[in-house]
Amino acid sequence: MSEPFDAVVVGAGLSGLCAARRLREAGLRVTVVEARDRVGGRTLSRRLGEDVIDLGGQWIGPTQDRVARLAEELGVATFPQHHEGDKVLCIGGRKTTYAGEIPSIGALGLVELQATIWRLDRLARRVPKARPWDTPDAAALDAISVAGWLARNVVSRRARAVVEIAVRSILACEPSEVSFLYFLFYLRAGGGVMQLARVAGGAQERRFVGGAQQLSERLAARLDVTLDAPVRAIEQDEDEARVVSARGTLRARRVILALPPALVDRMELAPHPPPLRDQLLARMPMGAVIKCLAVYDRPFWRERGLSGEGLSTDGPVRLAFDDSAHDGSQHALVGFLLGATATALPEPRARREAVLASLAQMFGHEAQDPLHYVDQDWTRERESLGGYVGVMAPGVMTTCGRALREPWGRVHWAGTETATEHAGYMDGAIQAGERAAAEVLAAR
Ligand SMILES: Cc1cc2nc3c(=O)[nH]c(=O)nc-3n(C[C@H](O)[C@H](O)[C@H](O)COP(=O)(O)OP(=O)(O)OC[C@H]3O[C@@H](n4cnc5c(N)ncnc54)[C@H](O)[C@@H]3O)c2cc1C
Repeated sequence: MSEPFDAVVVGAGLSGLCAARRLREAGLRVTVVEARDRVGGRTLSRRLGEDVIDLGGQWIGPTQDRVARLAEELGVATFPQHHEGDKVLCIGGRKTTYAGEIPSIGALGLVELQATIWRLDRLARRVPKARPWDTPDAAALDAISVAGWLARNVVSRRARAVVEIAVRSILACEPSEVSFLYFLFYLRAGGGVMQLARVAGGAQERRFVGGAQQLSERLAARLDVTLDAPVRAIEQDEDEARVVSARGTLRARRVILALPPALVDRMELAPHPPPLRDQLLARMPMGAVIKCLAVYDRPFWRERGLSGEGLSTDGPVRLAFDDSAHDGSQHALVGFLLGATATALPEPRARREAVLASLAQMFGHEAQDPLHYVDQDWTRERESLGGYVGVMAPGVMTTCGRALREPWGRVHWAGTETATEHAGYMDGAIQAGERAAAEVLAAR
């Protein structure tokens, strides 16, 4: 029988590939197994018209230093997200435009909106990034949803609606579905409300020339990766671990599971993991997102003085941005169906019509007539089960959160869900992969 691998990494997303790279650099015999016929996981870049567009992760911003460094090292250039012009806000059938960072919702609403953002950031600063369950008043903060907190603390209906749109945009789920403590942790890990929401100086500041998936493709080219190998079971005993995939069984001294908890929950795990870990796997569902791209013969929104950025409670598209090519060769809009609207339109033709009508409400009737259109329903992807990220409902962080990174025998946990900085983002995926690799090296 051949020697077991020093480590087997499950999942060839950014997290798994960065973990494998670290281990390979340290001289370990490491291999990666991936369910899909491609690497990159929740990043997916493809040609549409004259440009390569991103149907998954796309933007990076300040303080996301790991992903910026990786891109530089791999020779993937970035360019600034277009944001010149006014933004659009549609609430309750009413459309307004605004120039600054905070939507125009009337003087009183605006005061309360700014106070709410300030308060959320102040509360988030009290959350220890690596131990959110130790936040002062953690149990009380974890006992309510974000919607519950907003209902108690924000009087202006319009201010509440704007914060709800921000929550959907940041987490891709409904404010009623997510723990307030988990949301505060997410804000803390990502740098605060405005850092996550804004373009210039925020998480949507830059895009990759040629698409984000290139990072994974270039990493994988230097590693041993087996595609089309969905892992069905992980077994371990005192001597070794075994990773059972559709392409056979691999023996390993250590295993890194670099995929969201909801996907691990579908595997056979033997022996049974400890109760907190088991609970966590079953209680961290994915958000729901469909990303929609429409290419146009001209940037009609720019001609109207609009930036292409839009927020809405009205149509299925909750959030939109200009998604034009870096060299001006093509003009496009990207729209996001988030939370409830991502599960309400499963039929592709009806969805396309509703998305284009929604973009037309925001930016003008020309939106109804694109040259090209494509959308990616992440909720229908068996290897992702949704996106952007696995989230915690009320009560989960304080009961099983501490199991998130706790190794299970020979098994270590990666994936952006386990990050302490920029959790949910590509940068967090890299941090988590590198941390899991460091654990494996320390365990030798
Ligand atoms: C629509 C969308 C937009 C986003 N926008 C942004 C953005 O603008 N900026 C940003 O930073 N982040 C964004 N994100 C989030 C970002 O894409 C993720 O945080 C990051 O890619 C996660 O990487 P990961 O390696 O942790 O997980 P994944 O990329 O999910 O990797 C897990 C891998 O495991 C594989 N796998 C699953 N099941 C099995 C199995 N049984 N056996 C073997 N392999 C398996 C999967 O196929 C996948 O390749 C977005 C995500 C989505 C979906």
